[in-house]
Amino acid sequence: MLCPKCSVKLERTQYEHFGIRQCPRCHGMLMRRDRVQAIRNRRETPPEALVEEIAQSPADADAQHRLRCPECRVTMRKERRRMGPTEFWVDVCPRCDLIWLDVGELAMLQLAFELSEQGAERLQIRERLQKMSPVQREELQRRIDSLPEYDAFRNLLTIDF
Ligand SMILES: [Zn+2]
Ligand SMILES: [Zn+2]
Repeated sequence: MLCPKCSVKLERTQYEHFGIRQCPRCHGMLMRRDRVQAIRNRRETPPEALVEEIAQSPADADAQHRLRCPECRVTMRKERRRMGPTEFWVDVCPRCDLIWLDVGELAMLQLAFELSEQGAERLQIRERLQKMSPVQREELQRRIDSLPEYDAFRNLLTIDF
């Protein structure tokens, strides 16, 4: 199977113990819908790692044009997702139920899920952040500050450090 964006061969790899396919060039990922949900629900990657992953992704990674499914070549459907005020689109094959996630989008889906939970969960995020060293926190804050669209998450981080 080829990357729907770069046309290079997708590589088999693992993400949180699930087998997925990833493009070695753009780092986009292809996986079945149930895998995306399972990864989101397991909440294995800590929020600060998700923020880092998002911060390291290029802002223009979200594919604007319609992609073709790497498996069956059908035109994929765009499904809108949100992380706070940020909107992005995931590409879904209506025939194979495969989902293409541009780099950073899986992290955004996971973080959106974390942020959608009640205050107790937010507290957990803050507890984790408080365990980081000042240098680590500063570095994380610097990365978040370079992402103007992530206001919701930035506000969360700046609550009583
Ligand atoms: Zn690619
Ligand atoms: Zn397909």
